[in-house]
Amino acid sequence: MMEQLRCHADERQLAQCVYCGGATETRDHIPSKVLLDEPYPSNLPVVPACETCNKGFSLDEEYLACLVDCAVTGSTSANGAHREKVSGILARKPALASMLADARREANGRVAFAIAPDRVEHVVLKLARGHAAYELSEPQLGEPSSLLCLPLESLSPDVRERFETPPSPSTWPEVGSRAMQRLAATFPAGADWILVQAGRYRYMTAVSDAVVVRMVLSEYLACEVTWY
Ligand SMILES: [Zn+2]
Repeated sequence: MMEQLRCHADERQLAQCVYCGGATETRDHIPSKVLLDEPYPSNLPVVPACETCNKGFSLDEEYLACLVDCAVTGSTSANGAHREKVSGILARKPALASMLADARREANGRVAFAIAPDRVEHVVLKLARGHAAYELSEPQLGEPSSLLCLPLESLSPDVRERFETPPSPSTWPEVGSRAMQRLAATFPAGADWILVQAGRYRYMTAVSDAVVVRMVLSEYLACEVTWY
């Protein structure tokens, strides 16, 4: 179960969609439920979003959820050993299933997938913007300075170590933000990974010389988005 901290900046942020800065009409779960299994953790973080953004990511989120699970299982068949939710999507959406089957490559006994980078980045940036707004009370509406997305297993030991280790804060998060409250609660350990669902989703946010958001999907896909 996730405990959620109350945040004094929430009321101010409610005025603004965390993805585009537009007028707020709805609330959006972050991470999106398609990336999680049922039963969902209680108290999933929610962020304010406009109607367009709230609906505008769902096809790419489905694609990413299926892509990650197909990469994990090596199969694109709806009957493969998938997450239940992904089996359901592959069965309901034959066009998506066959697109993934076409993207599947096998070489030297290893399965790899050609990805649609725009679609993956669209979702990863959305997730990072949601986490940054929720944890740091700092909406990041601008283009990121970098966006990286790689299988965890492809990282060298040095890079993996750097990825797993939270950057030490050189500036403190905004007073009253969730990140500041977490930091105070764990001091002197500092920022750490927040586990949303074991084996399915974890993330961290940090303010060092940049705003950094890292996410791991299904313990397979390592993502990092930074804003300098
Ligand atoms: Zn929006």
